[in-house]
Amino acid sequence: MTGVSGLTKRFGTNTVLDNIDLEIEDGERVVIIGPSGTGKSTLLRAINFLDHPDAGTITVGDLSVDAARASRRNILALRRRTAFVFQNYALFANKTARENITEALVTVQKRSRADAEARADEVLRETGLLDKADSYPAALSGGQQQRVGIGRAMALDADLMLFDEPTSALDPEWVGEVLDLMRRVAEQRQTMLIVTHEMQFAREIADRIVFMDGGRIVEQGPPSQIFDAPHDKRTRDFLRRVG
Ligand code: ADP
Ligand code: MG
Repeated sequence: MTGVSGLTKRFGTNTVLDNIDLEIEDGERVVIIGPSGTGKSTLLRAINFLDHPDAGTITVGDLSVDAARASRRNILALRRRTAFVFQNYALFANKTARENITEALVTVQKRSRADAEARADEVLRETGLLDKADSYPAALSGGQQQRVGIGRAMALDADLMLFDEPTSALDPEWVGEVLDLMRRVAEQRQTMLIVTHEMQFAREIADRIVFMDGGRIVEQGPPSQIFDAPHDKRTRDFLRRVG
């Protein structure tokens, strides 16, 4: 089991996450939607303490961490169980595609260089980027860079993959190939928590849609219910705006 309970995050007097409870089953694909500024990124970042929550419990696999009493060791253990795909790819500019993937395998997972490179090449093959293994990010298209970002996350074999608007920084021409790769990851029944504005994609791959507004979960359910028969006026208004 994975999820958060009572998760609260404030920036100054601004309560950005207000007592969020969210349980995710192993292999479940959960998509978070909601207006901008509503706390979606903060929720993902709080799960691995990129933003330190003020209160709540985070559980990933067999590890539960209480935000109020989290030690450095707890946080590192939590990060080892998660993999993050960033909106802006967050690749190391001075490392090749292969080196971007091996980096955490060697430094965080303490794998041997040979083992890390073998895993990187597997992932480069899966992402269709083996011929770009020695290219630096600047020589890759936006779509290829984000596929490296996703490959880097895949290589970690994490219990939970977190995607924060992975296509929203891309030129429209590159969105399709990145969504295709995410579909393939989803088919492997990888546990995924995804923030996206790609509603058609969300409808296709999500087991559950979570609609957030104002730092709270307003409603959640299967895609057909949220998209075709939302209960809450805020959900209806949001979907009308983005639809
Ligand atoms: P979303 O991803 O849904 O657009 P965010 O989680 O990025 O929303 O932001 C939620 C709120 O938290 C916004 O009001 C934003 O300004 C605020 N916020 C996010 N990060 C910080 C930060 N590091 N410092 C201060 N306020 C922040
Ligand atoms: Mg965001």
